[in-house]
Amino acid sequence: MIIKSVASTSGYGSGKAFRLCRGDAAGTHVMSIDEAFKAERERLSVLSVENDIFAAHLEILDDPMLSDAIEEHLAGGENPLEAVASACDDIVSMFSSIDDEYLRARVDDVKDVCRNIESRLAGNFSGSLDIPEGSVVVADEIFPSDTSRMDLSKVSAFVTRKGSVTSHVCIIATSRGIPVALGVDIDMIADGDNLIVNGNAGEVAVNPTEDELSKLAERRIVNESESEIIQEPVEYQGHIVNVYGNAGCVEDVAKAMAAGADGIGRFRTEVVFMRSEEFPTEEEQFEIYRDAALLCGDKPLTIRTMDIGGDKKMPYLSTEPEDNPFLGVRGVRLCLANPGLFKIQLRAILRAGSYGNVRILVPMVTTSAEIDRVRVLIEECKGELSAEGKEFDNSIPVGAMVETPASVFAGRAIAEKVEFFSIGTNDLTQYIMAADRGNSGVSILYNPKDIAVKNAVEVIVANAHEAGIKAGICGEAASDPEFAEFLLEAGIDSLSLSDPRMIPVTKRLIRR
Ligand code: PEP
Ligand code: MG
Repeated sequence: MIIKSVASTSGYGSGKAFRLCRGDAAGTHVMSIDEAFKAERERLSVLSVENDIFAAHLEILDDPMLSDAIEEHLAGGENPLEAVASACDDIVSMFSSIDDEYLRARVDDVKDVCRNIESRLAGNFSGSLDIPEGSVVVADEIFPSDTSRMDLSKVSAFVTRKGSVTSHVCIIATSRGIPVALGVDIDMIADGDNLIVNGNAGEVAVNPTEDELSKLAERRIVNESESEIIQEPVEYQGHIVNVYGNAGCVEDVAKAMAAGADGIGRFRTEVVFMRSEEFPTEEEQFEIYRDAALLCGDKPLTIRTMDIGGDKKMPYLSTEPEDNPFLGVRGVRLCLANPGLFKIQLRAILRAGSYGNVRILVPMVTTSAEIDRVRVLIEECKGELSAEGKEFDNSIPVGAMVETPASVFAGRAIAEKVEFFSIGTNDLTQYIMAADRGNSGVSILYNPKDIAVKNAVEVIVANAHEAGIKAGICGEAASDPEFAEFLLEAGIDSLSLSDPRMIPVTKRLIRR
């Protein structure tokens, strides 16, 4: 049987279905609440010996606040699954509004604990995210915290009911070459089914027949013949259009460079932060950025400064609760609000600059004044590093992500202050179309190919060129061949792609 997905990212993956179940409020109950708590307590007690996260989960599980809230909902007539889900909602909304950093940071932990209880009640608990080698992970939705708890090297594909290709989970998966099929009717898939995910065609084959297997193999051969590596930069109508890779870790940089990337157009440093349990030190960051720079040689490594906020929260970085996080303190706004932390990152990047061709990319720029303030901090860091006798790149280029409407319409002023532009169509689309990038209810509006977004891209490229700087793109839309053709016509100078396998395909498309 072949199921169509609503959206997908490119690539192939196959393996046994591993269902990440979180319980179903309408489902049957295979154990009582007390039994579910007991089983969960036993599991967490073992795990907490080695990992503090699970110790924190154990505390939440044993906190009377949770059991009292569940009791209250049971007394109100809800079934156990509904009662746990409602109790979770109550605690999450209460924590989110409390002016206490520690409690706010516990929201995701509460959700995780409740999800596991719900799964146990429904009899579909799949343990900690201990994924067997070569699994296709099937879930209603995958949260960023799920991926940080999985060994992604064991995952060959993701299949989900909800989510969009620009969700951060999807981006992380894509950067690892893991295809994701979204909007799939996962009720058709049982745990242990043999699955083949063809992200290029947006299809998921469930227990495929011989006939289906040979059709899938044929399509794959055609696709692979298009993936021969091209090392040199390619030209479109006589002007070089660089094809860069997007990366979140040193391993991604290696994969992109091996696929013939002309450099890295966006090194997404939040991944470095998400993998850590506390704010990474300057030395830890420096080592990662230096290794990435060494892998790029003389080709550019564009390090995007921390783009935290919005849907990317770090438990150790406290932020005020916000009604509209995507319109709140995120990206450069958060960096400028925390100059001490920001300078640790800037110092690490400046130092890594002496090992290669490193560029700084600033996310969520809205005004040219933000660039001025970033530059003041960079100069302060340079002064400190000189005084300490540390080596750094004194002429490191600084670029702006263009992803807010303000940076389109006030783009000339910003272009005068930076050395390059990088268009972030993931956010630009949501802000231009006023459609949340993660909300499937408005996914029809969330379309980077809409004329409104295309017009904005043309303005951005013109702003850059008038100021004598280059404009590239690092949003996911760059991987869409149809959109890439529009970008080439619009005069784009570089495309930065999350899936390394798309690098040779895109170079071939540009040359054609
Ligand atoms: C973008 O907005 O296009 C982008 C690349 O940034 P992120 O997806 O991290 O917000
Ligand atoms: Mg963005």
